[in-house]
Amino acid sequence: MTTIAFIGLGHMGLPMARNLLKAGFNLQVFDLVQRAMDELAAEGAQAASIALEAVQGAQVVISMLPASRHVEGLYLGADGLLAALKPGTLVLECSTIAPEVARSVHAAAHERGIELLDAPVSGGTAGAAAGTLTFMIGGQPETLAKAQLFFQAMGKNIFHAGPEGAGQVAKVCNNQVLAVQMIATAEAMAMGVANGLEPAVLAEIMRQSSGGNWTLEKYNPWPGVMENAPASKGYSGGFMAELMAKDLGLAQQAAQSSGSSTPMGALALQLYRLLLKQGKGKQDFSVVQQLFVE
Ligand code: NAD
Repeated sequence: MTTIAFIGLGHMGLPMARNLLKAGFNLQVFDLVQRAMDELAAEGAQAASIALEAVQGAQVVISMLPASRHVEGLYLGADGLLAALKPGTLVLECSTIAPEVARSVHAAAHERGIELLDAPVSGGTAGAAAGTLTFMIGGQPETLAKAQLFFQAMGKNIFHAGPEGAGQVAKVCNNQVLAVQMIATAEAMAMGVANGLEPAVLAEIMRQSSGGNWTLEKYNPWPGVMENAPASKGYSGGFMAELMAKDLGLAQQAAQSSGSSTPMGALALQLYRLLLKQGKGKQDFSVVQQLFVE
């Protein structure tokens, strides 16, 4: 049976790893935080005390870390995993990171005969728990063919975006749209309520009208409109505002390198930076709602 090493058991990694366990794979896990490892160990995974231990005997390595520097730290350099993995190991790097960092990790993996895909995801913590994530994949099609069954255990839509780094480019484009939609929805909700509308009524009208979008469908930022949305749980859980600010920064870098004009993305980044300055970086990104209410 295939043994998978899963590294990074945060908001996304924990439910993704759980779905691999449910699909019957052997799972060896590592996170800097003990609690998530304990939860998975109780469900049948083996917890490791360092990343190198987690990858022992694994044919597949999956990582789900916060940002570029964590991924570089895990894989590159003399102490990095790539120096220790056997040639032929399959690595699925699912974090959202800079496309150029993804390309440098690809190059280092290629030198060692390790097959790697950049495979960032969309769908949020609910999609991770339900096993319905969208994967946006960069790398060789033959590698993707070998990885299909692992992606299918965690997701529903599996897209080959293009060569090395292409998954990350698709991801930052998508998250720029998501941030802009979230901000536009939050300011409209605040304006409607300030002008006397019931939040749930306004949300439903917009959802069914031409303003309808993903945030109105699944993730309304106004507290109490959607029972399971982070907004109704004190903006806890979900996707941290500081991670959205990171993704918007990556989108601006991508725009800079191609000379693209992205004024909406630039404004979204500025608004998320304001939120971080207000100490709200650890809250869900729908907390942007609070910029628009008294
Ligand atoms: P998170 O901060 O909840 O989880 C990251 C985990 O990585 C933490 O548990 C942390 O302890 C662990 N970690 C950090 N460095 C490590 C290391 N060197 N070794 C082992 N573990 C380490 O973040 P998240 O919300 O799970 O997001 C993970 C990635 O997925 C990010 O790149 C994010 O942008 C992306 N993403 C998140 C969402 C979402 O809704 N939360 C959706 C899509 C994509």
